[in-house]
Amino acid sequence: TTSRLPTCRFLSVSPVSRFASTLVIAEHEGGSIKAPSLSAVEAAKSLDKDNSISMLLAGSGHSLQEAAANAVSCHPSVSKVLVADSDRFIHPLAEPWAKLIQLVQQRENFSHIVVASGSFGKNILPRAAALLDVSPVTDVIGISESTTFVRPIYAGNALCTVRYTGAHPCMLTIRSTSFQVQPYSTDSKAHKAPISQVDLSTFEEDTIGKSQYVKLTSQDSERPDLGNSRIVVTGGRGLKSAENFKMLEKLAEKLGAAVGATRAAVDAGFVPNDLQVGQTGKIVAPELYMAFGVSGAIQHLAGMRDSKVIVAVNRDADAPIFQVADYGLVGDLFEVIPELLEKLPEK
Ligand code: FAD
Repeated sequence: TTSRLPTCRFLSVSPVSRFASTLVIAEHEGGSIKAPSLSAVEAAKSLDKDNSISMLLAGSGHSLQEAAANAVSCHPSVSKVLVADSDRFIHPLAEPWAKLIQLVQQRENFSHIVVASGSFGKNILPRAAALLDVSPVTDVIGISESTTFVRPIYAGNALCTVRYTGAHPCMLTIRSTSFQVQPYSTDSKAHKAPISQVDLSTFEEDTIGKSQYVKLTSQDSERPDLGNSRIVVTGGRGLKSAENFKMLEKLAEKLGAAVGATRAAVDAGFVPNDLQVGQTGKIVAPELYMAFGVSGAIQHLAGMRDSKVIVAVNRDADAPIFQVADYGLVGDLFEVIPELLEKLPEK
C-alpha cells in the first residue's frame, strides 16, 4: 500500500492529448503473454478509459503468430494486436526492438506507450524514448490521470506524484506488482481483437549493433517464479551458509513458495543473484512474505514493502524489518524453521 509512505507533488501543465490510444509492448513465451505484460494492460486501462489499447508482439514462428496473438486477442481490453514477425526480434535486444517501437509509433501516433518494468522493458524503453526524443517516466505504481503518475523515489522511501509535460508519446515503465491482473476469458467467441501484421519493409537495422545475442542460461525449477509467486520465503545473512539455505528451500516446497534472498546473502555466495529482492534486485508484492535473518535495510524494503502480509523472524528485537512486519517473531531462525518444517503438512 502507498499509505505507509510520505508523498510529494511536482505539478505543471501537460500538452499530451487525452483523446488517443495506448500501445502496450508485450513479452511472450511459449505462446503465452507473460504476466507482467498483462499488468501493463491493466495500467493502460487506467490511462485509456475508451479501451483503445493496442498490443505489440514481436518475434517469429508459430508461437508468435498462433498462440500468443490469439491469446491476447481475446483480452477484452485489447482492441488491436500488432504483430511484427521477424527473426530480428526473437531475442530481446534493445537496438532492433527500440527501432521497431519507433517505426510503429511513427505510423500509429499513440499517446502512450507502456511496458512492464522488468529487465526487458528497462532495457528497451529508454532507447526507444531517445529515438522518439521524449523522456520516459519509469517505475510507475499509480495512475491518477492520463499524465499524472505516482512513482517511488529514494529507494521507495517516498512516493512522488509527477505530471508528464513532454510531447507525444508519453512512455511509461510500470511496476507490475502495483497493477493486479483481472481474470479474463480466453474463449475466442467472447472477444476477438483484430490482428494486424506490422509492415517491416521499411524497417532499418540499427547499424550501431552494440549488442549481440550470445546465449540464454536459465534454471529449470519447479518452484513458482519469484516475481509472480503468492508466497515468498526470503533468507538473509542470518542464514549463514548456502547449506543452511536448503532449509529455506524445503520450507518453500512445503508452502508452494518462491525463495528470495537479500543482497548480503547473494554477495556471500549463499544463492545466485536472480533471487535477490530489493532496490537492485526483484520487486515483489506477494500475499505472504516471510523474512528469516533479514535486518530490513531500506534497499531490501524497497523490493518487498508492498507485500500484503509480512512475517519476520529475527533474533534482534530492534531489527528494522519489524517496523514493516505485520507479524514479528524475535527468535533464532535455526529453531523456528525446523519447527515450521515439522509442523507443516507435506504438500
Ligand atoms: P544483515 O543486515 O547483516 O542482517 C542479518 C540479520 O540476521 C540481522 O538482523 C541479524 O539480527 C539476523 N540474524 C542473524 N542470525 C540470526 C539467527 N540465528 N536467527 C534470526 N536472525 C538472525 N540489499 C538487498 O537485500 N537488496 C537489494 O536490492 C539491495 N540493493 C542495494 C543497493 C545499494 C546501492 C546498496 C548500497 C545496498 C543494497 N543492498 C541491498 C544492501 C543492503 O543495504 C543491506 O546490506 C542488505 O539488505 C542486508 O542484508 P541482510 O539483512 O541479509 O544482512
